[in-house]
Amino acid sequence: MKTHIFKVDINNIDNNVIVKAAEIIKSGGLVAFPTETVYGLGGDGLNPNAAKKIYSAKGRPSDNPLILHISDIGQLSPLVREIPENALKLAKEFWPGPLTMIFKKSDIVPNETSGGLDTVAVRFPVNKVAQALITASGTPIAAPSANTSGRPSPTRASHVEYDLNGKIDMIIDGGACKFGLESTIIDVTGNIPCLLRPGSITLEMLRSVLGEVNVDKAVVSKLDKGELPKAPGMKYKHYSPSADVVIVRGDRNKMVDKINELISQTDKGLKVGVIATEENKERYINCEVLVAGSIKEPETIAANLFKMLRKCDHHHIDRVFAEGLCEDELGLAIMNRLKKAAGYCIIEV
Ligand code: AMP
Ligand code: MG
Repeated sequence: MKTHIFKVDINNIDNNVIVKAAEIIKSGGLVAFPTETVYGLGGDGLNPNAAKKIYSAKGRPSDNPLILHISDIGQLSPLVREIPENALKLAKEFWPGPLTMIFKKSDIVPNETSGGLDTVAVRFPVNKVAQALITASGTPIAAPSANTSGRPSPTRASHVEYDLNGKIDMIIDGGACKFGLESTIIDVTGNIPCLLRPGSITLEMLRSVLGEVNVDKAVVSKLDKGELPKAPGMKYKHYSPSADVVIVRGDRNKMVDKINELISQTDKGLKVGVIATEENKERYINCEVLVAGSIKEPETIAANLFKMLRKCDHHHIDRVFAEGLCEDELGLAIMNRLKKAAGYCIIEV
């Protein structure tokens, strides 16, 4: 299959590209498109065959449900059995934006899209290209991250091209994604809402609107054998470069010293990388330093993290040491992704 790639300027969207892309979605094909979180691999969310194609292009296990993307709040009610009060409060505050909510699903949502669950994940993205595509398609768009399953999520069109060229119909290149981490997921079906995946809408922000919010264990720690996360996707290996990743966390000076000590102990035949903050980048020796962003602006780290994990592969790095962050606010989401990339290998100093 030939994958057509079109660039669009987010401030001056070429409607011809959107019309072409919407035709593909309507006829059951797949289009990768930018959102404010990561690039999505979109198909008609109400067409079971489109869902099957998405799983196959990504190599994604079919029990890992897809998020439905809407471009108008009015598109929500046909997809769900009820809209809880908490969902209305969150929608008012954070939609359109990087927040996904889990609802009880209505019958029009195919089991292929919901991975066999009786719930459905819905998000209203703020990215203008995403909104234009959903509106022109006239259907909710099912879109997981547009990467090969297990690889870091794509935050640039080039990442999508690397993973999926030849496997999908079209890629819309709308530049780098603003937030760079997948959406926050919150289950609003119970009395007390539960955070299933942390993201740029932080736990603190959710609690400021809802009061009490529970946190699924899979958000911060590795699950025990037999335990299942509430978001099925959280059980799979994720975000992994080919290199081994080790997180080192603690007091700044001790952390830098420990990473340098670990580098010096690493087999000389192995290429070592450090995912570092701007503030510490000059302090590492005998390694390639990959600067994710500034500790003072965690959003810069979030926006670049997946790019850095992908860079590890392109630069044939064998072992990566990553600076750990404090797990509050955006740090919770960044550390959630890093921990998965590291298979929960963390050294505390
Ligand atoms: P991705 O779109 O690649 O970021 O993956 C979507 C994430 O949403 C996965 O972790 C899914 O397991 C999760 N998800 C989608 N639908 C549901 C649902 N109905 N209940 C819980 N988690 C869901
Ligand atoms: Mg994904």
